[in-house]
Amino acid sequence: MPDNETTAPSLENLLHETRAFPPGPAFAAQANAQPSLYEEAAADRLGFWAAQARELVTWSTPFTQTLDWSDAPVARWFADGKLNAAYNAVDRHVEAGLGDRVALHFEGEPGDTRAVTYADLQREVSRAANALTALGVTTGDRVVVYLPMLVESVVAMLACARIGAPHSVVFGGFSADALRSRIADAEAKLVITADGGYRRGAPSALKPAVDEALAPKDGQPATTVEHVLVVRRTGQEVDWTEGRDVWWHDAVEHADAFHEPVQVDAEHPLFILYTSGTTGKPKGILHTTGGYLTQAAYTHKFVFDLKAESDVYWCTADIGWVTGHSYVVYGPLTNGATQVIYEGTPDTPHRGRWWELVEKYQVSILYTAPTAIRTCMKWGEDIPAGFDLSSLRVLGSVGEPINPEAWMWYRRVIGGDTAPIVDTWWQTETGGIMISPLPGVTATKPGSAQVALPGIVADVVDDEAHSVPDGGGGYLVLSEPWPAMLRGIWGDLQRFKDTYWSRFEGLYFAGDGAKKDEDGDIWLLGRVDDVMNVSGHRLSTTEIESALVSHEVVAEAAVVGAADETTGQAVVAFVILRGEHADRASTPEGAQEVQAELRNHVAKEIGPIAKPRRILVVPELPKTRSGKIMRRLLRDVAENRTVGDATTLADSSVMDLISAGLASTK
Ligand code: ATP
Ligand code: MG
Repeated sequence: MPDNETTAPSLENLLHETRAFPPGPAFAAQANAQPSLYEEAAADRLGFWAAQARELVTWSTPFTQTLDWSDAPVARWFADGKLNAAYNAVDRHVEAGLGDRVALHFEGEPGDTRAVTYADLQREVSRAANALTALGVTTGDRVVVYLPMLVESVVAMLACARIGAPHSVVFGGFSADALRSRIADAEAKLVITADGGYRRGAPSALKPAVDEALAPKDGQPATTVEHVLVVRRTGQEVDWTEGRDVWWHDAVEHADAFHEPVQVDAEHPLFILYTSGTTGKPKGILHTTGGYLTQAAYTHKFVFDLKAESDVYWCTADIGWVTGHSYVVYGPLTNGATQVIYEGTPDTPHRGRWWELVEKYQVSILYTAPTAIRTCMKWGEDIPAGFDLSSLRVLGSVGEPINPEAWMWYRRVIGGDTAPIVDTWWQTETGGIMISPLPGVTATKPGSAQVALPGIVADVVDDEAHSVPDGGGGYLVLSEPWPAMLRGIWGDLQRFKDTYWSRFEGLYFAGDGAKKDEDGDIWLLGRVDDVMNVSGHRLSTTEIESALVSHEVVAEAAVVGAADETTGQAVVAFVILRGEHADRASTPEGAQEVQAELRNHVAKEIGPIAKPRRILVVPELPKTRSGKIMRRLLRDVAENRTVGDATTLADSSVMDLISAGLASTK
C-alpha cells in the first residue's frame, strides 16, 4: 500500500504528447457509440445503468432497484432481479435463432482447430453442468479451474455459472503452491484441470501440480476438494487417484445435453479471481452476477464497437486473468460475438503466429497488452508485414500504460494507420473497463486512456483529495459506485476497506498515479508504489519509460528509484533494445555510447531532473505471468536487497540475469 502519511506534492506532469487522431467520418457514422451517450449517462447515471442492464442482459426476474449503497463500500446492484450468466452468454442466442453462429474459433498451439457454434456451446455447457451436479457440486460451492486456453476452459466456467457455483480460475502457469493457497482460500469442492497443454511446441503437464496441491502437507489435513475433473488434452501420462479423479470425457460427454440453468440473485457470487500480484501478494477479488455481466457486455459493445453479426473478435488474454473473464468469456459471449481463442505462445512455431491467425480468421477487433506490442516491436516490423492484417478495424490495449511510441507502432504496423486504438484502463477489482476512448467518438491520443466511460466517474486528486486542475498530476480515484465493482476481498472485508477505501474518504483509490492534460484527458502514470522522489520532485515511472521508448533503439524500458544519499532517490533504468539495434550494446564501448545517448534523450524529452543515473541494457525484464513489469523486484536489485516475493514472476531466471549484469557494471 502507498504511504498514507505522505505530505509530498502530488506527481509532476512532465512528458508532453501532442499527437491526436480524430475518428474517420466513415467509422463515426457506423459506430455503436455516439457523443450523446455521455450526456445521457451524465443526466441520469443510475437510470443509464438500469437501461443498459435491461437492454444487454436477460433477467428471469426483472429488477426494480438499481443501486443500494447503504452498506457502502459494499454495493448491491439490481439486487431484486434474478438471472443466469451462462443462459445470457449462450442459450438466449440459440433461442434467438443464432445457434449456427460460431462462438469460438479454437486454435490449438500444434495447429488443431475447432469451430464451436452457440448451439454446440449450449449442449457442452449443459452437459458439463449436469456432470458437475452429478459430482455433488451445487449452487454456492466453489470450483477451481486450472486449465490452459481450451474450449473446455470456457465451458467449465460457464457450467459453474449455470449452476451458480462461483469459479476461481487459477492461471495454468502457476505453481502447485499458488494453486494450493487459492484452493484453500476458496475452500473449493472441485478442481477442473487437464493432463497438460501445449506450450512452445511441447506438451506441458498440469495435473502433477494439482496432485501436489492436494497432497497433505506439513501435517495439514486433506483439503476440501472432493473430485478432480481432468480434461484430456495432450494424452501424457498422469497419476490417478481412484475415487477422486474423473476424466472429463467420461463425466461430461455422456451427460444429458439438457440442463435448466439455476436463476440466481443479481448479487450471487459469480467468481473469485486473484489480482496479478504486480505490487505484492495477490488479493482474492469477489465479483457478483448482475452488475458484473451488465458492465462486461456494455463495455464490450461500445469500447470495441462490436457488430456481432460481422466482426471476428480476438482477445489474447488467458482466462486466468480478469481480461480473460470479462473480455473472452462474459462480455463477448453475452453479446453473441464470434471470437478466436488460441492455446499457445505468440512465437510458436514462428514469430508471426498471431498475425497468421489474424489473416486466417479475418480478425477485425484485436485486444492485447502493451507487453505483447513491445515484444513485437523488439522482434521487428517485417514479421507482421508478412501477413494481411487489413481485416483489423479496432485495436485495444490493456494491462499497463502503453508508451506513446508503442501506441504509434501498434497503430501504424498492425492497424494500417487507420484502426482506432482504445487504451483501456481497469483492474481485476473494477471488473470491467472504466477509462477508455470510444471509437468513432474520441479523438485518440497516443499513451492516454483519456476519458471515463459514460456511467463511470473518475478523477485525479491531490494528497488532500481535491480534484487537480487540468495539467496537474495526482492519484486516480473513482468517485461513484459502478455495476461491476468488486464486492470485497474473499473472506476479508477489512482488507477490502483498508486497501481501497481508507486513503481518501468516500473515494475508491485504485493505487495508480495519473495526470490530467490541458483537455482534461486522463493519463496513467504507473503505480503509486513505484513513484520516485528525486530531489523533492515526484516523478512517474511511466513518463521516463515512455521517453526511453521514444528513442529509436529502445523496445522496452523499466525505471525505478534507488536510494541515493544526495538526491533521496536516483533514477535507474533497465532497457531492452529493438532487434535491429541489439548489436549496438554487445561491446562495452557500444553499451556506453547507447547509455549516454539515452541519458541525453531523456534530458531532452523530459528534463535533466529525470535523467537516469544508471542505464542497464538487459535481455528481458521481470514480468508477472500476465506480462506486467514488476518494478519492485528491480528496485530490490538496484538497492542490493534480497529480491522480494517473486511467486507471480513468469520467469525466475530473469532476475539472476539482471543481477549479474548489474554487478558487472558497478
Ligand atoms: P496487484 O494488484 O496484485 O499488484 P495488478 O494491479 O497488476 O496486481 P490487475 O488487476 O491485473 O492486477 O491490474 C490492474 C492494474 O493494471 C491497474 O491498477 C493499472 O496499474 C494497470 N493497468 C491496467 N490497464 C491499464 C492501462 N490501460 N493503462 C495504464 N495502466 C493500466
Ligand atoms: Mg492492483
